[in-house]
Amino acid sequence: MEIKEILEIAQDVTEKCIKCGLCKSVCPTYPYIMEESGYARGRLTLAEMVIKGEMPINREIAEKWDQCAMCRRCEWICPNDVEYKKILVQVRELQEKSIGKDYLKELGLKALNFLQSSVGRKVVKVAGKLGNLTGEGEIKVRLPGRVKFVPKPTAKPFEIRGKEFKSEKEKGRLLFFTGCMIDVFYGKTGKNVIKLMNKIGYTVIVPKDIKCCGAPHLYSGNEQAFETLKNHNLKEFNKYTFDAIVVACPTCGGALQEDYGISVKVYDFAELFSKENIYLRGKGEKVTYHVPCHSYSAMKVDEDVFYGSIRKVKGDELIKAEKAKSCCGFAGLFSVKNPEMSEKILKEKIDDFKSTGADIILTSCPGCVLQLRDGTLKHSKTQQVKHLADYLAENMD
Ligand code: SF4
Ligand code: SF4
Repeated sequence: MEIKEILEIAQDVTEKCIKCGLCKSVCPTYPYIMEESGYARGRLTLAEMVIKGEMPINREIAEKWDQCAMCRRCEWICPNDVEYKKILVQVRELQEKSIGKDYLKELGLKALNFLQSSVGRKVVKVAGKLGNLTGEGEIKVRLPGRVKFVPKPTAKPFEIRGKEFKSEKEKGRLLFFTGCMIDVFYGKTGKNVIKLMNKIGYTVIVPKDIKCCGAPHLYSGNEQAFETLKNHNLKEFNKYTFDAIVVACPTCGGALQEDYGISVKVYDFAELFSKENIYLRGKGEKVTYHVPCHSYSAMKVDEDVFYGSIRKVKGDELIKAEKAKSCCGFAGLFSVKNPEMSEKILKEKIDDFKSTGADIILTSCPGCVLQLRDGTLKHSKTQQVKHLADYLAENMD
């Protein structure tokens, strides 16, 4: 996009902000930055000043925008429907055009592209086999100044790709957009989503050659890369016959719903599951739930959909955490670029979960699973973290 076009879009959006400051109360980064540029209103004001030519873009301003987790909780609370994502995408693009590439960001996005390439898939498959020899779970990675527990590749990455899973009583056909994290790390979750959907009467098709949804590229301001991925995926969708798309990652779901321009409905798997008159038998466990930011800020799914799905498991006790809806601090590249802040947000989240006394922390986003497992391994060793699809499928047996 030309700089003139970017500025026009950005101006339209920033003008809608009435500077009420309501977004301060929900922003996960503000408590750790404690200055105006640490939440949406300040970040928008900086964008406005740049647009009006009152301030040049420099590294210092770019850093302020990079401190945003793009959780979009500000959009969710905003009384004036300010499209915060739209403006941040534009300023991040402008940032790259004005002060040059951010090589850490570039590296992260290139890694995602590589994972979904034919060579990358082969490499991940070999890594999956090797990882499987030492069992499932997380490995401790030492990064500058901190450690991070990250998942090993799943035993058989991309295993469900290019297959159709028939339901005996087919009432509809769903295209399952698996997403990179399920493909590479959480293969079991992918299989469990299929199991749940089959159980409630949906045949599930998993396209062979979908790539990353492109949300990380778009959120980083790389619209061109996003468009390339989107067009590739849309072409792949066209090869199949289906009634709706299902996801188990709200960031993928949000991108498909908001930015793909498709008429077909995109569902979080829990939306379909919660509607069914089906009950499962629990094991008498205490569970709590982390509501992923993008499930309500991007996909606009009400949290009751998730709580309703959990309540279908009879015999288990659901204990809602006080901060169930606050950000977990992962946010992809945000946690790489702002490791200290990400760790602090995570610690607060885990402390809140600890106070519930729950045995299991559930969530419905693979990125949040990664982050919360890292958090429990560091701060709450007695609590397990599970994707909601895994929990429901386990209790179906
Ligand atoms: S809540 Fe919306 S209108 Fe109010 S300051 Fe934040 S972005 Fe602007
Ligand atoms: S997207 Fe999240 S981190 Fe960024 S300004 Fe909005 S609430 Fe704060």
